[in-house]
Parts: sequence; structure tokens; C-alpha cells
Amino acid sequence: METTKRLFDEDAYLQQFTGTIVSCGEAEDEAHKGSYAVILDQTAFFPEEGGQTPDTGHIGDAVITDVQIQDDVITHYADRPLTVGISYEGMIDWERRFSNMQQHSGEHIFSGLVFSRFGYHNVGFHLSDHVVSMDFDGVLSPLQVAEIEKTANGAIYANVPITVSYPTKEEEQKLTYRSKKEIKGRIRLVTVEGYDTCACCAPHVRRTGEIGILKVMSLQNYKKGVRITILCGYRALAAFCEKNAILSSLTGILTTSEEETVSSVTRLKDEVRNLKGKCNLLKQELLQKKLAGTPADTEDLFFFEDELETSVLRHIINEEVNRRSGYVAGFVGNDEKGYSTIIGSAGKDCRELLKRLQDTLLAKGGGKQEMIQGSIPSTKDKITTVLKEIL
Ligand SMILES: [Zn+2]
Repeated sequence: METTKRLFDEDAYLQQFTGTIVSCGEAEDEAHKGSYAVILDQTAFFPEEGGQTPDTGHIGDAVITDVQIQDDVITHYADRPLTVGISYEGMIDWERRFSNMQQHSGEHIFSGLVFSRFGYHNVGFHLSDHVVSMDFDGVLSPLQVAEIEKTANGAIYANVPITVSYPTKEEEQKLTYRSKKEIKGRIRLVTVEGYDTCACCAPHVRRTGEIGILKVMSLQNYKKGVRITILCGYRALAAFCEKNAILSSLTGILTTSEEETVSSVTRLKDEVRNLKGKCNLLKQELLQKKLAGTPADTEDLFFFEDELETSVLRHIINEEVNRRSGYVAGFVGNDEKGYSTIIGSAGKDCRELLKRLQDTLLAKGGGKQEMIQGSIPSTKDKITTVLKEIL
């Protein structure tokens, strides 16, 4: 089949075009079931390529949801059939495409700076509607990333041209440029004047100023290097609006200023920790009083609580184990989520009781003769029935 003419290679800003349908048939693969595979003689739709998601839009009345490329033939996936031999007007979703161009051009500047400063390669680029991520084959510190971010924004404000060129084989020998893979055939170079030259098949903005802003959103160690996510242009603005709304809600809830938010939350956390501590102490005292009412010579003892810290439960079990010779079993939880348990004994083998609970109620857990810890996916009634049978 004839290769598809890539209109976006010549003009990244082409939103509307006319193309003649070369072929159209029901899509055969599972991923595009129910849609039609449409090939035109030329297209402005950028296919999924080089880590970037494809353009969407319309061809005639048909909605285009996916665009793929194989052997230089570009296939559009449409929601209805289009007539072979007829020319249609195509329209790409420009807002989405322009955003992709902002992200991709921003990525080139960032990766170019990382390469020139540290010699690390971008070995994994991913540009989807939700994430723009780059994987570098070397480790960068948060400080180094912040420096690169600042320099990248300097490149944006310098508003330098971004150009596309196709060097001849001889010219290519003399050039140094970044490249992710061995490229077959003609090389397309994207140059950010004064900052970076990289082999790339995607559409880019004309000048760096159109990127608007580049913000690093996250940095994490990944394989032997780092994974960095960024947002540029409108997406960075959307993220700023979202975060600003969150901060505004928080200042409202905490009745504090933006600057005081962190200290307010820290104070709240401290208060919660203190109250939890007091609450645990009160619960412990309450339970101790309750259990003190049971005669010490009662050989076995079991009790249920809906909420209790494990450390408090263990403390109580230890106290009661010293008062009697049988089992002391505490169960904490509720009938929906099940119960966690600690069982202790000075005279009996706790593992035996656990075994019985495992056989009857699918309990899980382990421990020593004197004490076991576990969980039981059952109800209070069923656990009580089984214990009454055993004890
Ligand atoms: Zn690229």
C-alpha cells in the first residue's frame, strides 16, 4: 500500500485538511472492534508514535478515536464507514494536539538540558492525556532537577525558534544529536535553538514561548535512574488551578492562611495523636474495670471490643494471664470486617486453641505456646459459639 503523506511533518499547525479515502473496512483487531479502519492518501492526524498518544477529531461526519501507523501507512479508526475514492474534510482536535505539542517540546528542552549537563539519556518517554513522564538512565537529585526546571523555563521565556530539518547522510555524520533508537531511512531532526537537537517524528510548537511554562510534578528513583513527570502550558495551568482549589478549601476548613496550612495540619495531627493516647488509656482503664469484675478463678476468659490498639490489647491480656491459669482471649473488630485476636495463657497451649479456631472459623495467625496473635473472618456470635464448645 502507498505510504500516507504526513501533512503534520510540514505544518504542525494544520488543523483542517482534505484527504481522499484509499481504503475503508471494519477493523479486525480486538482493540478497535466495532470501528472502521480508514486510510487516506494524506493526513494531518498524528498517529501513536514515539511515546506520544494519537490525535483525535473528525473526518467528514466520522469521529476518529485512534490513529495508528505501520510501515508508514496511517490508519484512522472511525465510528462509521467512509466512501473509498471520495475526498473528505478532516479536522483534528486542536486543543488536545496543541497541548501535546506544548508537552513534547517542553520534554525536548528538559531532556536536552539533562543530557548536556549530566550526560544522561531519556530512555523512556510517555505522553498521554494524563501523564508526561521521562525516564533517565542516571540519578538526579531534587536540587539538580529544580535547576534544570529553572533553566528550561529560561529557554521558554527566551522564546527561541524550534525548527525541523532533514539532514543528508553526509551532514548527519557531522551532527551531534540525541536519538532514542536506530532510525531507518530519513532522519527528522527537531532543534530547539541553542538548547537541543533530537531526532523526533512528532509535531512541535514554532517557538519555545508557546510552551508557556514547564513544571516538574514528581521525581522518583526508577530502575538505575529516575522517572520525572512534567506538565507544560495549559496542563500546568490546569494543575495549578486544581492545587489552588485544594489549598483554598483547606484554608477554609482550617480557618487559616495559605502560609499557615502546613503548621495547622501538623498541629492537628499532634492533637489527634495526643487524644488517641488519652483515649487508649481510658479504654484500657474501662476494660480493666470490666475484667476486674470477673472472678480470678474463672479458668478461661474471653472478651470482645470494637476498637482497641494492639498494644493495649496485649497489655490487658498479659495482666489477665497473671491472674488465671486458663486461656485469656481478646477479640477486636466487628462482624463485617472480622476480628483480630490475641490469646495468652500461663498454663495452656495457645497454639491448640488457634488450631481449633483455624479448623472451625478459618482463623489465621501464629505464635508461641504462651501467646498467639491472629485474625478471624467471622462474627462475634459464631466465635462465641465455638469458644463455648471448646472451653
Ligand atoms: Zn520528540
